[in-house]
Amino acid sequence: MEQLLAVRDDDRSEPELAGAHSHVASCEACQGELDRLHQRTARLRALPTMAPARNHFPAVRTRWQWERNQRRIRMVSGMFTAAAAALLLSLVGRDLMNPPRLDAEQQLQTAIDASQQLEATLHAWDPAQRVVDGRTARLVVVIEDRIAQVDGRLQDAARLEHAERVQRQVELWRERVGLMNALVDVHVTQVSNVDL
Ligand SMILES: [Zn+2]
Repeated sequence: MEQLLAVRDDDRSEPELAGAHSHVASCEACQGELDRLHQRTARLRALPTMAPARNHFPAVRTRWQWERNQRRIRMVSGMFTAAAAALLLSLVGRDLMNPPRLDAEQQLQTAIDASQQLEATLHAWDPAQRVVDGRTARLVVVIEDRIAQVDGRLQDAARLEHAERVQRQVELWRERVGLMNALVDVHVTQVSNVDL
Protein backbone atom coordinates (compact mmCIF):
# COMPACT_ATOMS: atom_id res chain seq x y z
CA MET A 1 0.00 0.00 0.00
CA GLU A 2 2.88 2.34 0.79
CA GLN A 3 4.36 1.74 -2.63
CA LEU A 4 0.97 2.14 -4.36
CA LEU A 5 0.51 5.47 -2.61
CA ALA A 6 3.98 6.48 -3.81
CA VAL A 7 2.98 5.61 -7.39
CA ARG A 8 -0.28 7.51 -7.02
CA ASP A 9 1.61 10.57 -5.73
CA ASP A 10 4.41 10.18 -8.29
CA ASP A 11 6.95 9.87 -5.48
CA ARG A 12 10.31 8.47 -6.66
CA SER A 13 12.38 9.71 -3.72
CA GLU A 14 13.73 6.23 -2.91
CA PRO A 15 15.06 3.48 -5.19
CA GLU A 16 12.40 1.09 -3.89
CA LEU A 17 9.65 3.55 -4.86
CA ALA A 18 11.11 4.06 -8.33
CA GLY A 19 11.04 0.26 -8.70
CA ALA A 20 7.35 0.28 -7.72
CA HIS A 21 6.60 2.63 -10.63
CA SER A 22 8.05 0.28 -13.23
CA HIS A 23 6.41 -2.74 -11.56
CA VAL A 24 2.92 -1.18 -11.63
CA ALA A 25 3.41 -0.26 -15.29
CA SER A 26 3.65 -3.95 -16.16
CA CYS A 27 1.44 -5.59 -13.49
CA GLU A 28 -2.31 -5.86 -14.01
CA ALA A 29 -3.07 -6.74 -10.38
CA CYS A 30 -1.30 -3.65 -9.07
CA GLN A 31 -2.92 -1.44 -11.73
CA GLY A 32 -6.31 -2.71 -10.52
CA GLU A 33 -5.39 -1.94 -6.93
CA LEU A 34 -4.22 1.54 -7.95
CA ASP A 35 -7.57 2.14 -9.68
CA ARG A 36 -9.43 1.11 -6.50
CA LEU A 37 -7.22 3.46 -4.49
CA HIS A 38 -8.22 6.36 -6.76
CA GLN A 39 -11.89 5.37 -6.41
CA ARG A 40 -11.66 5.23 -2.61
CA THR A 41 -10.16 8.70 -2.52
CA ALA A 42 -12.91 10.00 -4.81
CA ARG A 43 -15.64 8.38 -2.68
CA LEU A 44 -14.18 9.78 0.53
CA ARG A 45 -14.08 13.23 -1.03
CA ALA A 46 -17.73 12.84 -2.00
CA LEU A 47 -18.78 12.34 1.65
CA PRO A 48 -20.38 15.62 2.72
CA THR A 49 -19.64 15.38 6.43
CA MET A 50 -15.92 14.83 6.33
CA ALA A 51 -14.51 18.21 5.37
CA PRO A 52 -15.89 21.21 7.28
CA ALA A 53 -14.49 24.40 5.74
CA ARG A 54 -11.78 25.88 7.88
CA ASN A 55 -12.97 29.49 7.73
CA HIS A 56 -16.23 28.58 9.46
CA PHE A 57 -14.45 27.60 12.65
CA PRO A 58 -14.75 30.92 14.56
CA ALA A 59 -18.47 31.17 13.81
CA VAL A 60 -18.96 27.54 14.70
CA ARG A 61 -17.16 27.97 18.00
CA THR A 62 -19.39 30.92 18.93
CA ARG A 63 -22.50 29.00 18.01
CA TRP A 64 -21.24 25.93 19.83
CA GLN A 65 -20.68 27.85 23.07
CA TRP A 66 -24.21 29.26 22.82
CA GLU A 67 -25.76 25.90 22.13
CA ARG A 68 -23.86 24.18 24.89
CA ASN A 69 -26.48 25.38 27.37
CA GLN A 70 -29.38 24.49 25.06
CA ARG A 71 -28.45 21.04 24.03
CA ARG A 72 -26.66 18.15 25.57
CA ILE A 73 -23.65 17.53 23.40
CA ARG A 74 -22.72 13.95 23.21
CA MET A 75 -19.04 13.44 22.64
CA VAL A 76 -17.68 9.99 22.20
CA SER A 77 -14.52 9.56 24.15
CA GLY A 78 -10.93 8.75 23.40
CA MET A 79 -10.21 7.68 19.87
CA PHE A 80 -13.64 8.78 18.62
CA THR A 81 -13.29 12.38 19.75
CA ALA A 82 -11.76 13.74 16.57
CA ALA A 83 -14.33 12.12 14.30
CA ALA A 84 -17.21 13.21 16.53
CA ALA A 85 -15.90 16.76 16.70
CA ALA A 86 -15.52 16.94 12.93
CA LEU A 87 -19.07 15.65 12.56
CA LEU A 88 -20.48 18.06 15.11
CA LEU A 89 -18.68 21.00 13.52
CA SER A 90 -19.90 20.05 10.07
CA LEU A 91 -23.50 19.60 11.22
CA VAL A 92 -23.52 22.86 13.14
CA GLY A 93 -21.64 24.53 10.28
CA ARG A 94 -24.28 23.39 7.83
CA ASP A 95 -26.97 24.89 10.08
CA LEU A 96 -25.07 28.18 10.11
CA MET A 97 -25.04 28.32 6.32
CA ASN A 98 -28.81 27.79 6.20
CA PRO A 99 -30.15 30.63 8.38
CA PRO A 100 -33.78 29.39 8.60
CA ARG A 101 -32.98 26.73 11.19
CA LEU A 102 -33.78 23.19 10.38
CA ASP A 103 -36.63 21.96 12.52
CA ALA A 104 -36.17 18.82 14.57
CA GLU A 105 -37.74 16.52 11.98
CA GLN A 106 -35.40 17.84 9.27
CA GLN A 107 -32.39 17.50 11.57
CA LEU A 108 -33.43 13.91 12.18
CA GLN A 109 -33.76 13.22 8.45
CA THR A 110 -30.37 14.84 7.77
CA ALA A 111 -28.67 12.62 10.36
CA ILE A 112 -30.43 9.49 9.09
CA ASP A 113 -29.41 10.31 5.49
CA ALA A 114 -25.80 10.87 6.54
CA SER A 115 -25.73 7.59 8.45
CA GLN A 116 -27.19 5.67 5.51
CA GLN A 117 -24.76 7.27 3.08
CA LEU A 118 -21.83 6.19 5.27
CA GLU A 119 -23.33 2.72 5.52
CA ALA A 120 -23.57 2.50 1.73
CA THR A 121 -19.97 3.70 1.46
CA LEU A 122 -18.85 0.91 3.76
CA HIS A 123 -20.85 -1.70 1.85
CA ALA A 124 -19.22 -0.52 -1.38
CA TRP A 125 -15.95 -1.96 -0.09
CA ASP A 126 -15.36 -5.57 -0.85
CA PRO A 127 -14.39 -7.11 2.52
CA ALA A 128 -11.95 -9.41 0.72
CA GLN A 129 -9.99 -6.36 -0.37
CA ARG A 130 -9.79 -4.77 3.05
CA VAL A 131 -6.37 -4.85 4.58
CA VAL A 132 -7.08 -5.61 8.23
CA ASP A 133 -4.34 -5.81 10.86
CA GLY A 134 -4.95 -6.73 14.53
CA ARG A 135 -5.27 -3.15 15.72
CA THR A 136 -7.72 -2.25 12.94
CA ALA A 137 -9.79 -5.36 13.64
CA ARG A 138 -10.07 -4.47 17.36
CA LEU A 139 -11.13 -0.91 16.52
CA VAL A 140 -13.75 -2.21 14.12
CA VAL A 141 -15.21 -4.48 16.81
CA VAL A 142 -15.28 -1.64 19.37
CA ILE A 143 -17.00 0.76 16.96
CA GLU A 144 -19.50 -1.83 15.73
CA ASP A 145 -20.40 -2.63 19.37
CA ARG A 146 -21.06 1.04 20.00
CA ILE A 147 -23.21 1.34 16.89
CA ALA A 148 -25.22 -1.65 18.15
CA GLN A 149 -25.66 0.13 21.52
CA VAL A 150 -26.89 3.27 19.76
CA ASP A 151 -29.34 1.17 17.74
CA GLY A 152 -30.65 -0.31 21.00
CA ARG A 153 -31.17 3.16 22.46
CA LEU A 154 -32.95 4.20 19.23
CA GLN A 155 -35.45 1.40 19.81
CA ASP A 156 -36.00 2.66 23.38
CA ALA A 157 -36.46 6.22 22.09
CA ALA A 158 -39.26 5.10 19.75
CA ARG A 159 -41.48 4.70 22.85
CA LEU A 160 -41.11 8.33 24.01
CA GLU A 161 -43.69 11.10 23.47
CA HIS A 162 -43.35 12.85 20.10
CA ALA A 163 -41.39 16.04 20.92
CA GLU A 164 -39.03 14.29 23.30
CA ARG A 165 -38.70 11.35 20.96
CA VAL A 166 -37.58 13.41 17.94
CA GLN A 167 -35.00 15.30 19.98
CA ARG A 168 -33.62 12.08 21.40
CA GLN A 169 -33.56 10.46 17.96
CA VAL A 170 -31.63 13.41 16.51
CA GLU A 171 -28.99 12.99 19.25
CA LEU A 172 -28.73 9.26 18.71
CA TRP A 173 -28.62 9.41 14.92
CA ARG A 174 -25.90 12.04 15.10
CA GLU A 175 -23.92 9.85 17.47
CA ARG A 176 -24.42 7.00 15.01
CA VAL A 177 -23.09 9.15 12.14
CA GLY A 178 -20.02 9.96 14.26
CA LEU A 179 -19.41 6.26 14.82
CA MET A 180 -20.01 5.42 11.16
CA ASN A 181 -17.49 8.12 10.25
CA ALA A 182 -14.98 6.53 12.60
CA LEU A 183 -15.69 3.13 11.05
CA VAL A 184 -15.14 4.41 7.51
CA ASP A 185 -12.01 6.08 8.81
CA VAL A 186 -10.66 2.87 10.30
CA HIS A 187 -11.56 0.73 7.30
CA VAL A 188 -10.28 3.09 4.67
CA THR A 189 -8.39 6.19 5.66
CA GLN A 190 -6.40 4.49 8.40
CA VAL A 191 -5.42 1.65 6.13
CA SER A 192 -4.29 3.56 3.09
CA ASN A 193 -3.30 6.85 4.74
CA VAL A 194 -5.34 8.67 2.12
CA ASP A 195 -4.43 12.33 2.30
CA LEU A 196 -7.61 14.38 2.21
ZN1 LIG B 1 2.04 -6.30 -8.94
